[in-house]
Amino acid sequence: MPILTKEIVRNQFSELLSDEYDIRTVARGNTSGTTGSPLEVCYDDGVNHMNYAMLDRQYRWADTELGKFGDRVAVIRGNVIVPLDQKKPPYWRYNYLHRQLLLSSFHLSADNLPAYIDELSRFSPRVLDGYPSTLYVLAKHLKNRGEQLPIHAVLSSSETLYDFQRETIEESFGCKVFDYFGAAERVLFAAECDAHTGHHICEEYGITEFVDRDFEPVPVGEIGTMVATSLHNLAMPLIRYVTNDMSALKREACTCGRGLPLMDDVATKAEDSLTLRDGRIISPSVLTHPFKPLTTIEESQIVQESMDLVIVRVVPGVGFSDADKCQLAHGLQERVGDDIEVHIDIVQKLERAKSGKFKWVISKVEFGI
Ligand SMILES: [Zn+2]
Repeated sequence: MPILTKEIVRNQFSELLSDEYDIRTVARGNTSGTTGSPLEVCYDDGVNHMNYAMLDRQYRWADTELGKFGDRVAVIRGNVIVPLDQKKPPYWRYNYLHRQLLLSSFHLSADNLPAYIDELSRFSPRVLDGYPSTLYVLAKHLKNRGEQLPIHAVLSSSETLYDFQRETIEESFGCKVFDYFGAAERVLFAAECDAHTGHHICEEYGITEFVDRDFEPVPVGEIGTMVATSLHNLAMPLIRYVTNDMSALKREACTCGRGLPLMDDVATKAEDSLTLRDGRIISPSVLTHPFKPLTTIEESQIVQESMDLVIVRVVPGVGFSDADKCQLAHGLQERVGDDIEVHIDIVQKLERAKSGKFKWVISKVEFGI
């Protein structure tokens, strides 16, 4: 059966819409388009309900409850909550109907963080739901102050959750992180149970395959591109849709006893990896290691400009020194080799995408496989 690429969906949008639906009234959604132009897809009610059901189950696996009669939730995701040029708190709004505190992801700066923490303490949510990067900024700030803000569970999604982020978030909020994985195209969903051994692929939602560059299945345990088929969206059924995400199916079943198969924790976006001249692909997880001992780094971002140059943007924290800078450069150089220059740039602030999402590694070089 042939595959379906983003390009086909973009170019043959109306042919892919079912005749049963009217293009003027059907519900639509967009991918955030961090890799270029965003993609639009149509949804039927069934897939919207199924999506909510998967999220509801993820909340339950975290021993929390979603919705009107559910738990108090603080949400820090991509929505623009307050004007972007606002200079004073409140950087949040309330959704009383759903018991939510909605916090802006676009105003997280050293000056504003104390106000965020005060508001979170006052609201006292049972659940915190956000992007790994934004949750990490809050957690790191608490850690710097030597404080904790106990919450029942943290839910993260939409970006790769790195181990260093998970550790700091769990420490500062005194609870476990449950990471879930979906896509705006609504073709796949994967959720983490309380055994924390990986992500359960929700097979009721869609069929997920792991393939190589020729779209042939990769062996179990090997990393491959995720190709997914929706089982619910009758408005625009996407069959063998090629995502930008990569992960591996796990050999072992989960210790929790649930029958849904497991995939690896890290679902890496293809463009989040470095491609080297000798053909090696360096995954972002590998690049986290040189940062681990350097607690004086507040935030960072890695940009591969070309086959010859990687720029590392570093927001220095208290006590950051030239020796730290050298140690970092050396540690990264060791991992990428001598064919490519690693340049450390000291900056005051890192930029977020329009969607509010943050990419820790950006490669401007064509992906190697
Ligand atoms: Zn499990």
